[in-house]
Amino acid sequence: MKVEDIDRKVFELLGLHEERERDSELYKVFSEVFDRTTMDTLEYLKKRGQIEVLFGVISTGKEANVFRGFNKKGEQIAVKIYRTYTTDFRRIWEYLAADPRVRYVPKDIRKLVFAWTRREFKNLQRAMKYAVRVPEPLAFRNNVLVMEFIGGEYPAPRLKDVEKALGPEEFEELYSYTMRVIERLWKRGEMVHGDLSEYNILMWDKSVIIDWSQATISRNRMSKTLLYRDLRNITNYFAKKGVDVDNPDDKLIELVGERHERV
Ligand code: ATP
Ligand code: MN
Repeated sequence: MKVEDIDRKVFELLGLHEERERDSELYKVFSEVFDRTTMDTLEYLKKRGQIEVLFGVISTGKEANVFRGFNKKGEQIAVKIYRTYTTDFRRIWEYLAADPRVRYVPKDIRKLVFAWTRREFKNLQRAMKYAVRVPEPLAFRNNVLVMEFIGGEYPAPRLKDVEKALGPEEFEELYSYTMRVIERLWKRGEMVHGDLSEYNILMWDKSVIIDWSQATISRNRMSKTLLYRDLRNITNYFAKKGVDVDNPDDKLIELVGERHERV
């Protein structure tokens, strides 16, 4: 289904129950994420003024769908709604279990997803403190994360979407910006994104780094592996675009003082 098809229709949050019965195509997308708990959570956030209306699917991903909307103040928001069941329970469990900030890792799938959502919110707050441009986190509850919408009339494109329109100088600049972000996050923020790629960089007034669900702190035993992954993905991508990139192994040694063990 095309996003534009859904985008044309505006849904009052509280009217969703009836709307979705009338339109089978929409029913599919909405019923996927809007189970009972999610509906209750959305109602709660509506009462608190964090979400006024929701409309338009921005993205339907593997674990979460992202919608666009407005809050009571009239600001545009992006609402990331995680499924309360997930195909990848194990991965999420392992990521959370390795994070020293997470004291209790639930066995219950729904609670696990809630912990995952909460951690992404905390990650956004933390990254923002270190002057990394991210969507400002506004609220979270259960499996729903409300954040600043990046874009104007349309959502901001991802780096992947606009790469054909970029020239060598723009790639150079983006590369050095992204590397500075990785370094600043690691050295000052003691954290790592862990899934940095051309899909998680939005091109707006500045480039904006999104999707902080797998990000963690450097005290996590997985953090160096995640850092190495980011360094490799970013240097690989920009090398293909003709940028004279750093060697990711050297960069890793520079940042953590040791070589990555290959397993
Ligand atoms: P997961 O790792 O759970 O699969 P995901 O990749 O589905 O996450 P995100 O990368 O956070 O989720 O978001 C999916 C897409 O939604 C992004 O590629 C982007 O196009 C859009 N998006 C996400 N957050 C925002 C935002 N704050 N403003 C505008 N668009 C956004
Ligand atoms: Mn993503």
